[in-house]
Amino acid sequence: MKRSYYTLWLPTLITSIMVVALFWAMHIFLHHNLAEMIQAHKHSQELTKKIEKMVSSTLNATFLGNEKGFLKTVELSNQIHDDILLIKKDNMYDTDSLFRSYEQLYKKLISAVSYTSENRLGDAKVALEEVESYSNNLEMQMSGLNNYFSQREKEVERTLFIIMILSGGLLVFIALFNGFYLIPRQVIRPLEEFAEALKGSEEKYRIVADWTYDWEYWLDVDKSIAYISPSVERITGYTPNEFMQNPSLLVDIIHPDDTPNWSKHVSEAHLPNRPEEDAQEVEFRVVRKDGAIIFVDHICRPVYTHDGIYMGVRVANRDITQKVAILDELKEKNRLLDTLATTDGLSALFNRRYFDEALIKEVEYARRTANALALVMCDIDYFKLYNDTYGHQEGDKVIKQVSDVLKATFSRTIDVVARYGGEEFVILLQATPPAEACKLVELARENIVKLGIKHKGSKVAPFVTMSFGVVSCVPDVLSNGDRLLTQSDKALYQSKKNGRNCTTLLEC
Ligand code: GH3
Ligand code: MG
Ligand code: MG
Repeated sequence: MKRSYYTLWLPTLITSIMVVALFWAMHIFLHHNLAEMIQAHKHSQELTKKIEKMVSSTLNATFLGNEKGFLKTVELSNQIHDDILLIKKDNMYDTDSLFRSYEQLYKKLISAVSYTSENRLGDAKVALEEVESYSNNLEMQMSGLNNYFSQREKEVERTLFIIMILSGGLLVFIALFNGFYLIPRQVIRPLEEFAEALKGSEEKYRIVADWTYDWEYWLDVDKSIAYISPSVERITGYTPNEFMQNPSLLVDIIHPDDTPNWSKHVSEAHLPNRPEEDAQEVEFRVVRKDGAIIFVDHICRPVYTHDGIYMGVRVANRDITQKVAILDELKEKNRLLDTLATTDGLSALFNRRYFDEALIKEVEYARRTANALALVMCDIDYFKLYNDTYGHQEGDKVIKQVSDVLKATFSRTIDVVARYGGEEFVILLQATPPAEACKLVELARENIVKLGIKHKGSKVAPFVTMSFGVVSCVPDVLSNGDRLLTQSDKALYQSKKNGRNCTTLLEC
């Protein structure tokens, strides 16, 4: 048993035992003293009356010669004798002198009676005077006895009064002690301290819950909302009360396109008997009260008591709209960076870096699929002279126009058209055998001629022309990327040598 309980009930028990003991003592006292005393007092009062009766009946018997009166006197005398013995037996009072007085009185009465019957009236008169004196003495003693009993009764009353006062005092003490000390100290103060501590801890948890920045809630087993954080209003525009009154609002505000995703999550994650460490995550969009769409990251866990009883699902919803926007922006920038890293700024074709990587991959792919890979290298004829004639800026425009024609001619998505450097370009054509490659290249060459860009300085034509070198084969161990480049470069050189504005095909 706890000490606090012990100290609470023990003083009260001890004091109560004391009160019971006092009442018990009072009961014993009353039983042994008061009852007997009242009895003795009654006897003494009756005795007094009997003595008075006896005296008068004796006188009657003496002067009136009343035989019956005499017998009555004897009977009363016997009763008085017994009563005195009874009082003596009660051991309340010293009855010896009373008894002696009674005997003297009785003797004198008998003497008075016998003197009268002998007609010795003088002696009878003297005897009667003595009877009167003894009678007075007896009455005095009886009065003393009655006084004694009255005195004793008063003492008993006083003692009883003191016991009552003591018991009452003790009871008042218990009441005051309990009321002003024990109960406040042992019950009220600990309760107040407990209530204070409880309030403090409740306040602490309320702050933890209510000041959470995320939209937190706890779905009870019956799917009602046991708790929802005030942040929900900042995130969704709906107040916690609106959710409390209509729990289905939690689902209603999910973007329709994300509802299937949500349903799948609920069917898997919002189930009892899942391990408590099994957090499940899903992202979805929410249509705010003002119609705006936000992105939410939802993470939930099952809730159990210490005894393992399932208590529903605890959820944290985080507004990730800004994060999603930043991620989108980052993705866009990365895409742009990728493009910039692989694109040539002037021609908008792939750059040399991209081409170098593509060449390795395309050779590998062609080798694996046993398809012919064509590599075309081309160069604008007498371009230095063009720059010299029309200026560098005009030269740039030509590079751009030529690039567009090449891009338009080799238009398959798998075709790689890149600016190799200066006015030189390279083209990778997957699955394109030599003849087909030459056909396409010739088309490109003609398309450039068709552009009709004036080139006064050209020694091959009055307009801009290009020379082409082509190789096409199924790459083997020997014919790797470098080999293809070397051969196509050779083919281009051949075209230049052959008078420019033409195409040369070489073996790999
Ligand atoms: P060939 O027919 O033998 O190719 O003669 P070419 O003049 O074209 O060859 P060369 O290698 O002598 O000259 C190439 C010129 O291309 C030199 C340079 O001024 C020019 N060029 C290279 N890159 C650019 C560029 O980005 N813009 C412009 N406008 N000109 C460039
Ligand atoms: Mg050149
Ligand atoms: Mg050139």
